[in-house]
Amino acid sequence: MPRVCSICSHEAREEINAALLAGQPYRSIAKRYEASESAMYRHKLEHLPVHLIKAQDAAEVAQADNLLEQVKSLQARALTILDKAEASGDLRTALSAIREARGNLELLAKLLGELQQEGTVNVLVAPEWLSIRSTIVTVLEPYPQARTAVLEALSAG
Ligand SMILES: [Zn+2]
Repeated sequence: MPRVCSICSHEAREEINAALLAGQPYRSIAKRYEASESAMYRHKLEHLPVHLIKAQDAAEVAQADNLLEQVKSLQARALTILDKAEASGDLRTALSAIREARGNLELLAKLLGELQQEGTVNVLVAPEWLSIRSTIVTVLEPYPQARTAVLEALSAG
């Protein structure tokens, strides 16, 4: 059974990793963190790359999450405008809000598609899509021709 790496389980692991990456001598890092020099050496060769890859993944996921949040907030705004336009019977504004919301959905789908390629499963698109579809149907209720045209355009996309 492999021994647990004393650096990996060290409470100052991140600081040690940073010191190793900065190229500080094993001996001085080992002394500072009361660890063995050989553990330091082994850790740098065998474990540090794994930590780095994981950290990079986490950063990318965080970045993607941030983008998702922004698109979702745009989408919420478009839907609010759509609601207001619906309430006041303003078809022109409603249509432009729908276009806006559709653009957001496309962006969202693209983002999620990329995330899925990375192996992250996400089911956001479906509920968002269904909710906007039903809003479109409601908003355009008094305008059957426009409704048909919009729905056709949406399913064609
Ligand atoms: Zn280690």
